[in-house]
Amino acid sequence: MDIPSNHSNHDALWLPFTANRQFRSTPRMLVSAHGMYYKDDRGHDVLDGCAGLWCVNAGHTRPRIVEAVQKTVATLDFAPAFQMGHPLAFEAADRVARLAPGNLNHVFFCNSGSEAGDSALKIALAYQRLRGEGTRTRLIGRERGYHGVGFGGISVGGISGNRKLYGTMLGGVDHLPHTLDLERNAFSRGQPEHGAELADALERIVTLHDASTIAAVIVEPMAGSTGVLPAPKGYLKRLRDICTKHGILLIFDEVITGFGRLGASFAAEKYGIVPDIMTVAKGITNGTVPMGANIVSDTVFDAFMQGPPEAIDLPHGYTYTAHPIACAAAIATLDTYAEEHLFERAAALTPYFEDAAHSLRGLPNVVDIRNEGLVAGIELAPRDAKTTRAYEIFDRAFHEGVLLRYTGDIVAVSPPLIVEKAEIDRIFETIGRLIRQVA
Ligand code: PMP
Repeated sequence: MDIPSNHSNHDALWLPFTANRQFRSTPRMLVSAHGMYYKDDRGHDVLDGCAGLWCVNAGHTRPRIVEAVQKTVATLDFAPAFQMGHPLAFEAADRVARLAPGNLNHVFFCNSGSEAGDSALKIALAYQRLRGEGTRTRLIGRERGYHGVGFGGISVGGISGNRKLYGTMLGGVDHLPHTLDLERNAFSRGQPEHGAELADALERIVTLHDASTIAAVIVEPMAGSTGVLPAPKGYLKRLRDICTKHGILLIFDEVITGFGRLGASFAAEKYGIVPDIMTVAKGITNGTVPMGANIVSDTVFDAFMQGPPEAIDLPHGYTYTAHPIACAAAIATLDTYAEEHLFERAAALTPYFEDAAHSLRGLPNVVDIRNEGLVAGIELAPRDAKTTRAYEIFDRAFHEGVLLRYTGDIVAVSPPLIVEKAEIDRIFETIGRLIRQVA
C-alpha cells in the first residue's frame, strides 16, 4: 500500500469515477511528471498514453507554462471577474478567439468542461429568449454523449451510468442516436464511411416537437469518453444544415477534440463546420490549471449586447472565471502549441499512429479499432466477469509503466502531441501483449 502513511484516515479522500475500495488495495499513485512521463510512487516511469486525462497536449511540466504560472501567482493571485477585468483575461480571450474558426469571436471563461457544458446550454436558452424565440426551450443531446457532470451535462449527455442515480434530469431533452455502427463501420480508419443519415433523426425530432420549441443541439464532433466515436463522414455537415434551416443553435463540445488532438486547432476547423457555440477545457491550459470556456459566435454574442449598456447582459459566471493563473497558463500553452507546431505535428503523426493502432486487428477479442488524429479506441468483446478486459489492461499497463484509459470494454489512447514514434510503438505493443494475456 503506497498511500501516504502520515495520513491516518485513508478514507478521507473520495476519488471521482473510481472504485474507491478496490483502489485502496491496488493504488496507482503519481508523484511527478515531465514531458511524456509520469513517475509513480515506486520511482518508476510511466509513459503517458493519455495526456493525463486527454488534456496535457504539450507534455508535462513545460517550463514556459510553469514559469507563467509561477510569475502570475506571485503578482496577481486572484482577481474577481464580476464587473472587473485584468489584462491576462483579455489577452487569453483574444488568443483563444483567434484560434477559433469562423465568427466564433467571443470567449466566456469558466473552470472545467462540465461548467462549459452547462454554461453553453444556458447561453443557448437565453439567446433564444433574447431574440424573441422564448418558446425554444428544448435541448437535444445524443446517446453516448458526454458533456460533463453538471445537471445540464448529464441531462443532454447519453450515459445511463452517469444519470440513473440522480433522479430528475432537466426536462425537455431529447437525444439523437449515437453513431457507433460495428456492422457497417468496424475497423474504420479516421471518420467512418457510413452513418451521415443518422443526423436526420434531428429532422424527426423537429417534426415531432416543432422547431419553435427547440433551442440547441449539443454533440461532440468525436465522442471521447464513451469510447472514441469519430463522427461519420458528412454527419456533422448534415447536422449543421438542419440546425441552420430550423433556427436551432449547434453546440460542439470540443473539450477533448480542441487544441490539436485531431491534428487541427479544433474539430470544427478540421471538418470545416462552424458551430454557434463551442465548449472547450482540458488542453486550453495543457491541464496545468483548471479552465474551461465557451467560444460563441458574433450572432449569439450580439444578442446579449442589445439591452441598455448598464444592464448585466448574462447573469451567470463563477468566482474563478478568468482566474489570472489559468489565463497565464492558457497564454503560455497556446504559445507552446504554436511555437512547436504541435497541431501540425499531430496531423503529420496521424498515419503512423493509425497504423500502430490498427496493427492490433486480429488479436483475441478485438471487435473494433477506431481512430482520428492522435486518438484511438480499441474495443474488446464483453465478458462475464466483475471487471472488463479493458480495465485489466489499463491496470496491468500502469504497473508495467504505461498509462492508458479505459471505458467499459474500450481501451483509449490519446498521448501528448509531443509523442515520438518509438513511444507510439511501445504503447500499442504493450496493449497488444496485454490483450493476449487477458484473453
Ligand atoms: N465534455 C467532454 C467531451 C469531455 O470529454 C469532458 C471530460 N472528459 C467534459 C465535457 C467534462 O470536463 P470536466 O471533467 O473538465 O468537467
